[in-house]
Amino acid sequence: MTYRQKTKNIVLTSLLFITSSLITFSAAAAQLAIVIDDFGYRKQDDNRILELPPQVSIAILPNSPFGKEMAEKAHRQGREILIHMPMAPISKQPLERDTLHPSMSAAEIDTLIKAAIARVPYATGMNNHMGSAMTSDLTAMQHVMASLSGSGFYFLDSVTIGSTKATQAAQGTPVRVLRRQVFLDNVQTEEETRKQLNRAVALARKQGSVIAIGHPHPSTVRALHKLIPQLPPDIELVSPGYMLTHAGKPSAVKPQPEKPVVPVKPVVKEKPWLTPMTEQCEGKAEIGGEFYTNYINLLTEALLRDQMNGKVAEVLLSVRMALPQPDTAPPAAKESVSTDLKAAEKVPAEPAAETQR
Ligand SMILES: [Zn+2]
Repeated sequence: MTYRQKTKNIVLTSLLFITSSLITFSAAAAQLAIVIDDFGYRKQDDNRILELPPQVSIAILPNSPFGKEMAEKAHRQGREILIHMPMAPISKQPLERDTLHPSMSAAEIDTLIKAAIARVPYATGMNNHMGSAMTSDLTAMQHVMASLSGSGFYFLDSVTIGSTKATQAAQGTPVRVLRRQVFLDNVQTEEETRKQLNRAVALARKQGSVIAIGHPHPSTVRALHKLIPQLPPDIELVSPGYMLTHAGKPSAVKPQPEKPVVPVKPVVKEKPWLTPMTEQCEGKAEIGGEFYTNYINLLTEALLRDQMNGKVAEVLLSVRMALPQPDTAPPAAKESVSTDLKAAEKVPAEPAAETQR
């Protein structure tokens, strides 16, 4: 084997390692689930929500006039459907028919839940509409979980009160519980939804996954149509059910830097697994060849664009810097949802809020 062939083999082995690393890291994207509540009353707004990507899930009020129609349409789209189960709030408010109340018996709660499941076809999960009184009552929520145990449903706790007992109540049952962390439209403006979606993105990156809940308000609809196509590439839009079966790992992805990360000078101080190999060859130009230069440039740019993994990018950069190449333009700055990420991260935890239809 000639010296040149040996060098090519080394470079090829390195590229295989890097490519497999890329696949591993891209699988570790952070998960974001968006659920739109209160479906079934406002057909026009609901239909606009159904124009969003099918990963956006919907929660249907079981006694709403268009609930069944919306469930059938959403199911045809492959969209996940939840039952938006009316549960009693602490404050006096107009209530949906068949609202669950903490004073109800296990049998009464079971009857109402079974009726709701019969009214909303294709549903696979349930979340609470209002419910600050109901969800903070452990016994009442144990009745809910017992009723859901045979259905295969998951329960998404909308967290309308800090003292919710949903998770505790599901212990010992097969019901899996998820929690909402962000409300997208407590204030009904596009700006609020943008701000809250940025908060959700920041939380997803920090934790690996996050669930945000919104409503079919015109401002939410407009904002989501604009912002969902701009979600950063490291954020994977998923349904809550997908989140349960493909538990998100903490993202290996770093937040998007404000400036391109291409260094001005070659990186020489750290060349992990590459060092012993390259030290054998003195002439940098020997590693190159147009094909390899182009390949490494492409991989590097893909990494920088997608912001996948800092360490892999650093190693690739050091390889690239060792190659003869023309000047490279830094990757163009990407406009994304996360432009105010730093500000969003400082926003304190959201107070529990009661949502209304
Ligand atoms: Zn609701």
